[in-house]
Amino acid sequence: MCIEKTPWEQVIEFHGHTCPGIALGYRLAQIANRELGTSAALDSGISVTAYTHSCALDAFQIINRATYGRKNLLVEEKKLHVYHFQNVNMSKKILITVHSEILEQIADAEEPLSPREIQTKNLEAIRIILGVEESSFCKIQNVQIM
Ligand SMILES: [Zn+2]
Repeated sequence: MCIEKTPWEQVIEFHGHTCPGIALGYRLAQIANRELGTSAALDSGISVTAYTHSCALDAFQIINRATYGRKNLLVEEKKLHVYHFQNVNMSKKILITVHSEILEQIADAEEPLSPREIQTKNLEAIRIILGVEESSFCKIQNVQIM
């Protein structure tokens, strides 16, 4: 029997590990697909500009089909979890800003933690990132297209 992998499983497999950063990207990617009327199944595509390098980028490559190789995944390093998503026919563009309370979840701990403690902290962060109300997760703004 062949069981198809869920989008979440596909993202984890591609990324190589489960972490709060990929959870963040997964949630952002799902929101972007909904807002822009695109999907991972259709190769309709979104172009993404991220304003920081992080694990989150790999989720966009699977869920939004925005790949680095095709140049529809760009990074401008500003150390900000702010993301522009635009659909390929250029009719709509959104800006998503992740709330700072959420980013505290993915920040490194101030004290050194044991591997066990790190795992517990990561699982809790993933639970929050994937489960929190959208209004507590991020702000979505429509961007005027010139
Ligand atoms: Zn990661």
